Amino acid sequence: MAIYEPLPSDGPRRRYRLRSPASLEPIGELECMNEADVAQALERARKAQPAWAARSFEQRAAVMRRVCDLVLEQQDRIIETVIRETGKTETEAFAMEVFSSCDSLTYYAKNAARFLKPQKKRIHGVMGFTKQLRIVYKPVGVVGIIVPWNGPFVLGMNQTVQALMAGNAVLLKGSEVTPYSTKLVGELFEEAGLPDGVLQVVMGDGQTGAAVVDAGVDKVSFTGSVATGRKVAEACGRQLIPVTLELGGKDAMIVCADADLDRAASGALIGSCMNTGQYCCGTERIYVVDEVYDAFVDKVVERAKGLRQVRDGESDIGAIFWDRQLDIIESHVNDAVARGATVRVGGGRNEALEGLYFEPTVVTDVTHDMDLMTHETFGPVVAIMRVADEKEALARANDSEYGLNGNVWTQDKQKGFRLAEQMETGGVCINDMAVTYGVPEAPFGGVKSSGVGQVNGEVGLRGYCHAHPMIVDRFGGKQLQQGYPYTAKNLEGMKKFAKLLFGSPLGRWLS
Ligand code: NAD
Repeated sequence: MAIYEPLPSDGPRRRYRLRSPASLEPIGELECMNEADVAQALERARKAQPAWAARSFEQRAAVMRRVCDLVLEQQDRIIETVIRETGKTETEAFAMEVFSSCDSLTYYAKNAARFLKPQKKRIHGVMGFTKQLRIVYKPVGVVGIIVPWNGPFVLGMNQTVQALMAGNAVLLKGSEVTPYSTKLVGELFEEAGLPDGVLQVVMGDGQTGAAVVDAGVDKVSFTGSVATGRKVAEACGRQLIPVTLELGGKDAMIVCADADLDRAASGALIGSCMNTGQYCCGTERIYVVDEVYDAFVDKVVERAKGLRQVRDGESDIGAIFWDRQLDIIESHVNDAVARGATVRVGGGRNEALEGLYFEPTVVTDVTHDMDLMTHETFGPVVAIMRVADEKEALARANDSEYGLNGNVWTQDKQKGFRLAEQMETGGVCINDMAVTYGVPEAPFGGVKSSGVGQVNGEVGLRGYCHAHPMIVDRFGGKQLQQGYPYTAKNLEGMKKFAKLLFGSPLGRWLS
């Protein structure tokens, strides 16, 4: 049953009925904002942004801290809304949506002033004797932030906090299947006293998202699938506005012979199954060297059999958030089986539960001609492949159109770094699942089809700004006049000076 169905609409806005993926019961309706609504929102944002940008970092940080207090106070409301729309487990709703949001709010409230404070820089060479450089970080203006359904509260919150701390106004567009979790972000900021118009949550579907991109915003921060990312990039390219694209992945895990196999087996399960596998940096392919392959698979299978999947009460594996995704997971597993893979645990829909549940699944004997090893599955599936050695593991890991994150398991830290460095991905974790998104000090973003640009931390905050260089005389303008008229004598002098400066060791040192 579809959890997101169009409803007849005789007005100017598209409407949809939403159902809970856990119970399939109706949970509300979504009325989509149209182009005119988005244009109005942009106008309000434009009016509100200068006054917000004029506030000090401390004043902006005070709002973030109030939001953090509200997130803690209203965590039950957030968790309940997220679970109603996604069917994820309560632990994941807390850890991923509530805890991470508080961390983001606190981190950027504390560090934005340091990352964005005006900088004085020495200018190299001769110009450094007479000129000084100052760089200020100016907000870009109004940012369109578009997020998907797998982390509907935190993904909206994290980018919004960064854009706001940098002094921008924001139009935040959540996914059509989880709109109310993202709407909560706006409600909490409003309650915390953020001035009217500075953050507006745009409710709607993909067409509404396209309207945000085309509305005339100054930057787009997009998180979602590769296919939509391409469309967004094209639209931004047409308008010549900056965009960051945080897209899908097919993260590889490499298990070396000297890995702590117990830890690695647990890491494989949480890496592949956390958030029901619907995590952009989820572990989607595991390459295990021959020497430890059998022992590793036994440990994974034993642990996977103990995973609980129930609707009410303590559960390890939640629902799939969207029937569209459930179809993809099922087709990838079926395709793998048809091509010779072996299902060791699970393998299909959990028919005992009424909602959109796929059993935690372990598959072996997989190959690179299967969808399961080449396209993003985004489900609770642990896919394990035997490889001869680390060299083959690395080659297989890099044999992908994606390059978001990955992980390497070894007890030799230096070897871990060596392998990690050779992975063609945006980042790598050693002896852990990919936790990079939750570490703001680590610039986050994919390579290959997994994205363009980086978000989070200092890089992310500066990405919401224009770095504005200003060059001024060091000594109050008391220096030789330059420029016209051009004379042969001056040109000769310049040539001699260039030879001295760039053609001698002392000159090179000075420049
Ligand atoms: P999606 O691309 O279908 O939708 C993402 C968002 O874009 C939604 O809000 C949607 O309404 C909007 N949208 C759709 N068409 C649009 C258009 N033409 N113009 C502008 N906006 C449009 O992605 P999804 O299925 O919602 O999300 C799952 C994907 O997101 C997975 O591939 C996952 O890996 C990826 N993801 C990536 C990261 C990351 O940081 N790299 C994080 C989370 C999820």
